Amino acid sequence: MDSGRTVSADVAEHPLRRPLGAVLAEGVVEFDARRCIQALNPAAESLTGHAAGTLRGCDAAKLFHRTNGADAFSVAPGGPAELSLVLRTAEGEPLPVYARVYCVAGDDGSHEWLLAFFPKGRVRAIEQLKNELVSTVSHELKTPLAAIKAYASTLRNGEMPEQQRDEFLGVIEQQADRLSRLVDDMLMVSRVESAQLLRRRVIVPLDEVLDAAIAGLTFDPAVHQVTRRTAGTTVSGDPERLRDVFRNLLENAVKYSPRGGTIEVRAQAAPDCTVVEISDSGVGIASEHLPYIFDRFYRVESPSTASVGGSGLGLYIAGALVRAHGGAVNVRSEPGEGTTFSVMLPVRA
Ligand code: ADP
Repeated sequence: MDSGRTVSADVAEHPLRRPLGAVLAEGVVEFDARRCIQALNPAAESLTGHAAGTLRGCDAAKLFHRTNGADAFSVAPGGPAELSLVLRTAEGEPLPVYARVYCVAGDDGSHEWLLAFFPKGRVRAIEQLKNELVSTVSHELKTPLAAIKAYASTLRNGEMPEQQRDEFLGVIEQQADRLSRLVDDMLMVSRVESAQLLRRRVIVPLDEVLDAAIAGLTFDPAVHQVTRRTAGTTVSGDPERLRDVFRNLLENAVKYSPRGGTIEVRAQAAPDCTVVEISDSGVGIASEHLPYIFDRFYRVESPSTASVGGSGLGLYIAGALVRAHGGAVNVRSEPGEGTTFSVMLPVRA
């Protein structure tokens, strides 16, 4: 296992992994009556690469690609005009944007302009995100709903022994739990996006958090054995959110260990942090997938995972929660041998 590749949760900078706030932020630039740049908001700075300080007082031509903004400055006073423009980044690259231009007439007959813009490339990223969301969520909703419907119809239509009836009700309950977890995950994703992740921060006994996470798992102890070796360790954090991190990692350890085997949770003290390791002896993850598994909606499509359900949100949420604690997650894996996730958490608030 130690020979397996190691990847950290934040190495893969996929555009869709950025918080939605960053993807959606609109750039705003103000121009004075002489068409000189007066101000850029932080989104305009990050989208164009120009620092507000270096552009203040410069001619608008600095910010427009080739056209010098002729279209923008021909807008009449009043409501915004919607335009398609090409800006110029700090590196001199063209940046096609959708823009709204407001022209404000002063009492002395002069005009000032406000340009609000959104890069066209970002619109494509959002479209892609929306499509992924719709296809993942509808697939993840359909599978348990179909099972619930089928088992409920069979229960309604047929006489059956008590034991089978209990079994069918058990499946319905399990599938309803799966639906409820999906809804919880979706709600958690919206919290990740709005950065309201931690409700409180206290010194938490790790054993208690891990036991709560293990207690929330659905697994058959005859097939999977979960062992915790973490006596007496504490970490600093929000106990509920830490439980969510470990529940996600442990659920995966069970889900992706179809042959059963052992899942082990260990903790060791490092300077200023505690490292919690969750190891399984399951199907493992091929190295080409490792950089992406913390991405939103990323799932490994392989024969060994084809029958395992999931939304591709668990690791995205776990990674975001650990980062919100000021920690980090790494993964080591060897296909066919197993996987180890290492969660580094601060010990002091
Ligand atoms: P999912 O809902 O698909 O389980 P996750 O975000 O939790 O989504 O995980 C992303 C992908 O990473 C999974 O689809 C799976 O292929 C892989 N993965 C995560 N944990 C493990 C593990 N312990 N063993 C093998 N593969 C894993």
